Amino acid sequence: MHFADMDYRIPRQRMVREQLVARGIRDARVLEAMGSLPRHFFVPEGLVPTAYDDRPLPIGHGQTISQPWVVGRMCQMLEAEPGMSVLEVGTGSGYQAAVLYRMGLTVFSVERLRPLYMEARERLTSLGMHNIRTLLSDGTLGWPEMAPFDRIIVAAGGPGIPEALAEQLADPGVMVIPAGRQRGAQRLVRVRKENGRVNMEDCGSVAFVDLVGNCGWSQK
Ligand code: SAH
Repeated sequence: MHFADMDYRIPRQRMVREQLVARGIRDARVLEAMGSLPRHFFVPEGLVPTAYDDRPLPIGHGQTISQPWVVGRMCQMLEAEPGMSVLEVGTGSGYQAAVLYRMGLTVFSVERLRPLYMEARERLTSLGMHNIRTLLSDGTLGWPEMAPFDRIIVAAGGPGIPEALAEQLADPGVMVIPAGRQRGAQRLVRVRKENGRVNMEDCGSVAFVDLVGNCGWSQK
């Protein structure tokens, strides 16, 4: 273990207990991943002491690392099993990609902003997560060469569900995505594909940064 990591074991265990378990996160793989990953590696230096706080944090370029509970909940909603492939749209800090990787998934992650993409790659590599595949691109178009994906998780909110993502979801498959007609306020939607049929479940209101792209919002 890295020496600096020792200082954060206690806040991390408290985060798991008070923010995840207490609010209904039961998936053992999600709890294990978030209980062991150094979230403080994924935030800007000045915010390290607040890395395990119960809120999203700015990571630069107008973007955020999601609140721990939101990461845990979305990962649990995927109902994923080790060995499945997952496409993440919005690498951001790389934290959620690392959680998915620790859960045993084969991770493909797309980010549209070059500086975040570069930083996340460097971070994930330094943690030894060489197998996470990353791409600098518009994730509303998915990653056609790597499709289909057993699971898709979108970490930014657009006006609807991008057609390319619905197409690139395997059958059976599950996608978790925030969507809504208003910027900054969405419904968290779970899309299930099974036997050629698509079912959508509204899982409550959320607030994500903009999904910007071909099938998202235009840049402000
Ligand atoms: N999962 C991230 C959260 C990042 S916030 C984490 O754990 O830190 C959402 C990210 O989505 C931002 O980095 C933003 O730049 C990115 N994003 C927005 N629209 C996108 C698009 N069309 N394709 C790929 N990434 C996008």
